[in-house]
Amino acid sequence: MSTAVVETEEHTALRSAVAALGKRYGRDYMTTVVREGRHPDTLWAEAAKLGYLGVNLPEEYGGGGGGIAELSIVLEELGAAGCPLLMMVVSPAICGTVIARFGTDTQKAAWLPGLADGSLTMAFGITEPDAGSNSHRITTTARRDGDDWLLTGRKVFISGVDIADATLVVGRTEDARTGRLKPCLFIVPRDTPGFRRAQIDMELQAPEKQFELVLDDVRLPSEALVGDEDAGLLQLFAGLNPERVMTAAFAVGMGRYAVNRAVEYAKERTVWKTPVGAHQAVAHPLAQAHIELELARLMMQKAARLYDDGDDLGAGEAANMAKYAAAEACVKAVDQAVHTLGGNGLTREYGLASLITAARVARIAPVSREMILNFVSHQSLGLPKSY
Ligand SMILES: Cc1cc2nc3c(=O)[nH]c(=O)nc-3n(C[C@H](O)[C@H](O)[C@H](O)COP(=O)(O)OP(=O)(O)OC[C@H]3O[C@@H](n4cnc5c(N)ncnc54)[C@H](O)[C@@H]3O)c2cc1C
Repeated sequence: MSTAVVETEEHTALRSAVAALGKRYGRDYMTTVVREGRHPDTLWAEAAKLGYLGVNLPEEYGGGGGGIAELSIVLEELGAAGCPLLMMVVSPAICGTVIARFGTDTQKAAWLPGLADGSLTMAFGITEPDAGSNSHRITTTARRDGDDWLLTGRKVFISGVDIADATLVVGRTEDARTGRLKPCLFIVPRDTPGFRRAQIDMELQAPEKQFELVLDDVRLPSEALVGDEDAGLLQLFAGLNPERVMTAAFAVGMGRYAVNRAVEYAKERTVWKTPVGAHQAVAHPLAQAHIELELARLMMQKAARLYDDGDDLGAGEAANMAKYAAAEACVKAVDQAVHTLGGNGLTREYGLASLITAARVARIAPVSREMILNFVSHQSLGLPKSY
């Protein structure tokens, strides 16, 4: 896919450099890592060393000084090579962004250099058992105890808590004046007493696992609170928009990987006179998938650009649309790719069938297809709400 019209020369160069790294690892590396119950540490370390993981973080803390535009290129290209790094969506994109924009100097110094060079990883926890799509309903609550905070609540489906050095937990504090609960972000180190995790058994073949978390009066020092107690919502959205752009990158990358495998196969496999790819019933859906992935990527680039230019509001709408478009394009692309391979689409050897489940993650997380359609109905079209 040519990207010269919408990307700078630097972006195009970054894209090919990351693609070359991805090619050296590829799908086989990822499936081996998963089969052996390991994590893609070697790829993570190499990508970090080359400056790719911290490309969006400030230069003064060892990052590349770029933005989400650059970080999403990295994730998309690794995904297109078959070896996406899911933790990029949370560690540098959400946590790195929030700390860089709102963290105290001490938090920046403690976390950003490590997030940038890949030696530290941070997970992100907002989803709760009784407040999935409705994050206004979260009940994880922090109360003051002297200078400390005591954090209590439950989270579910939180990715990578076992490998992350800390989790950025979305909780609430009580407003001293109104008594209303307002969102706040806390850095909770992995081994903090009272912070327990249990792995959820998912039908996903990925190195990153999901966890249910129990926080039981977890004692945190004053400086665990990120930034300002009164800027909670603003800080939260500063992290959620990059997350949506990065999920779009994850989906576009996976969709491209699937279409490429299908195209290779369709050029070779011959059961009549011509390769199966000559039949339009096989070729057209692949062409459609290719077009829809390109369109989704354009929206992703727009969202990243708006975000990097500081337009949080505009980026919010575009990031939602990009995540929606990319997830839908990815689910369709994977489905068509599996079908193109006939019976081989369902074999472990060809490795496409497991993407059927993986592709659907982008449709439900971090915000579901329906919640984006709700957002666009209400915010973009001004339609009334049903809930
Ligand atoms: C692999 C994976 C990794 C994840 N990683 C993380 C993570 O690292 N951190 C984190 O915080 N969370 C994570 N999540 C959680 C994810 O963000 C949630 O699953 C998602 O927000 C949906 O919440 P829910 O599962 O509770 O679904 P629910 O909110 O229960 O929704 C169920 C269904 O109802 C629909 N629905 C709900 N409300 C409405 C409405 N008003 N109108 C129309 N339809 C509606 C939804 O679209 C969905 O189809 C992860 C999830 C998965 C699957």
